[in-house]
Amino acid sequence: MKDSGKGATAPRKKEQPDEPLQAAIRQMLIELGEDHKREGLLETPERLARSLRFLTSGYQMRIEDIVKNALYSVIYDEMVIVKDIEVFSMCEHHLLPFFGKCHVAYLPNKRVIGLSKIPRIVDMFARRFQIQERLTHQIAKTIEESIRPQGVGVVMEARHLCMMMRGVEKQHSQAITSTMLGAFRTQQQTREEFLSLVLGTPRA
Ligand SMILES: [Zn+2]
Repeated sequence: MKDSGKGATAPRKKEQPDEPLQAAIRQMLIELGEDHKREGLLETPERLARSLRFLTSGYQMRIEDIVKNALYSVIYDEMVIVKDIEVFSMCEHHLLPFFGKCHVAYLPNKRVIGLSKIPRIVDMFARRFQIQERLTHQIAKTIEESIRPQGVGVVMEARHLCMMMRGVEKQHSQAITSTMLGAFRTQQQTREEFLSLVLGTPRA
């Protein structure tokens, strides 16, 4: 057995991953006028580095890993809807969170995707620096490319801390984005069915 400081009083040495990122965070604290050596901030660079790695872990995810073994052939051509998927992302302009709900629907074309995979696709793109419009589009496009459905609709309602915290006085406003592909774009009835199911009454 290795003697890794057993019996000694020295605390177990913590690994320090991401030292360049932690150094940058330490420097940021200094630039902002903080004393990065005060007790409350001592471990902040390490914590923030870990947090940022998690919040941007979508860069390391691959769609193939998410959908593998989860595509099924079916004889079913009614609309599939997963609504109220929680979304947490970071705006790329201010690196502040935006968060809300995402609703995803598609009309199958002999293939469906495991329902639990849809929130994972949302997370894969949400855990990157984003703008809401692109996030919405990437989710729709990825589902389209994975199962070639007759159509895909994605609607996202989100609140942005960069708007809420910075005195823009829009604390209660939500941004709503949508992407409609295939039948959701060309067939008004399909689009309206989706919107009324996820948003209540159809909105203009
Ligand atoms: Zn922003």
